[in-house]
Amino acid sequence: MSELRWNPILREWVIVATHRQDRPLMPTKTCPFCIGAEEVPKNYDLLVLPNRFPSLHECPPAPDIEGDDFYRVAPAKGYCEVVLYSSEHNTTLAQQSPRRILNLILLWRERFDFIGSKEDIKYVMIFENKGAEIGVTLPHPHGQIYGYPFIPPKAQQELDSAREHYIDKGGCIFCQVQSEEFRDGRRIVAQNEGFFAFIPFFARWPYEVHIYPKKHMECILELGMADALSLASILKDVLVGYDHLFGFSMPYIMILHQRPTDGKEYPYYHFHFEFYPPRRSKDKIKYLAGCESGAGTYINDTRPEEKAAELRKAIEEGRKSAAEG
Ligand SMILES: [Zn+2]
Ligand SMILES: [Zn+2]
Ligand SMILES: [Zn+2]
Repeated sequence: MSELRWNPILREWVIVATHRQDRPLMPTKTCPFCIGAEEVPKNYDLLVLPNRFPSLHECPPAPDIEGDDFYRVAPAKGYCEVVLYSSEHNTTLAQQSPRRILNLILLWRERFDFIGSKEDIKYVMIFENKGAEIGVTLPHPHGQIYGYPFIPPKAQQELDSAREHYIDKGGCIFCQVQSEEFRDGRRIVAQNEGFFAFIPFFARWPYEVHIYPKKHMECILELGMADALSLASILKDVLVGYDHLFGFSMPYIMILHQRPTDGKEYPYYHFHFEFYPPRRSKDKIKYLAGCESGAGTYINDTRPEEKAAELRKAIEEGRKSAAEG
């Protein structure tokens, strides 16, 4: 069964999806995404598939439980797609060529447009969970796309402060973050013509990187070809730098935050990527505990300025060794 249940205290939806309990945990023998598996074509490069264990459905079942005005219940309507980055099992996004990352960006753009244009879909989120530390159940390199029938709370919080800033200060809050970060400079880890990457002043995770387009853009539909190339190149830089940092493939959550797709105007929103790697050092993991889970307040045990210097160096080294081939 699948349904949405409303939390009237936090004012947010919870997706209840019990069928997901049955999904495979790191299947070792047969990977459903490798060539030869039933689900995939005989040959592919990049591929979008419906999620086999979706939490949101294009045609959702009727909710199992009856709701009322206080305990609201709604069908779990939405989209859950899987994006396979490569047909090769033992690879990662960081190892893909800039050309293939560019093709992935173009594919994201197409899916954002397609899912976002569906009447009931108010928000589309493109993301990747990578690594066993994040609880990834399938190691084949892939990302995901969710189309939500509501604007999720974190996106809403960003939208609310962006709108207020726009009204009060007459500008974009993300553009102001950009000018603050360039004024200081210490937390910027990479940049090119169209994009820059940094560990924000307010980072929650030791190696939390955000990537912003330098030009104000609400979503990836506004990317021209030159912008898309810049984005592919900075994604590659950051991912390769992450892997260089500790000498192993870095686990992370990658999120693409864009304007909602509910048909309203969002001139104050500025799309961006956020990466949350759970590692705080080579052999230590940062767990979300009482202060984070209970209060919603993060404790970052490191100085973003120092971590940015480390990561900047790793990115430069990664670039060098890529150039040396
Ligand atoms: Zn595989
Ligand atoms: Zn902006
Ligand atoms: Zn964001």
